[in-house]
Amino acid sequence: MNQPEFRQFQFNLSGIGCWLVLLGVIWLLGAVGLGWLVKSLAVLVVLIMLAPVLLFVGLRFWLKRNLIQANCPVCSAPLTGLKGAETLCPSCGTPLRVSADGFQRLTDDGTIDVTAVDITVDSIPILPEGEADRQRN
Ligand SMILES: [Zn+2]
Repeated sequence: MNQPEFRQFQFNLSGIGCWLVLLGVIWLLGAVGLGWLVKSLAVLVVLIMLAPVLLFVGLRFWLKRNLIQANCPVCSAPLTGLKGAETLCPSCGTPLRVSADGFQRLTDDGTIDVTAVDITVDSIPILPEGEADRQRN
């Protein structure tokens, strides 16, 4: 008759036994004078739990300061870049530098970027004299 009650009591003890042992160890360490160990472990656990949150907030702050959204000065295509980086406009291929004000061309103002193309003599039609003038008019 008494055995089932005893078993239930034992089951309850095993459920909270883990916490009792933990509290006992903490109390013992505090009594011995190692409370600083418990405190430093608690601080360590809190730091480990807060690290991802702090990293996420830090990354957002850094991106807000360094991510520049502006238009290409040549073709006005909307661009996004990191401050201080050099990039090519995906729309027109102009080399650009990203600064706090937006995107600037790497070449001086007024410079026209030209790609030279080799043309062989055979591909140019040679017209008789006077024929070019007649075609123009
Ligand atoms: Zn462009």
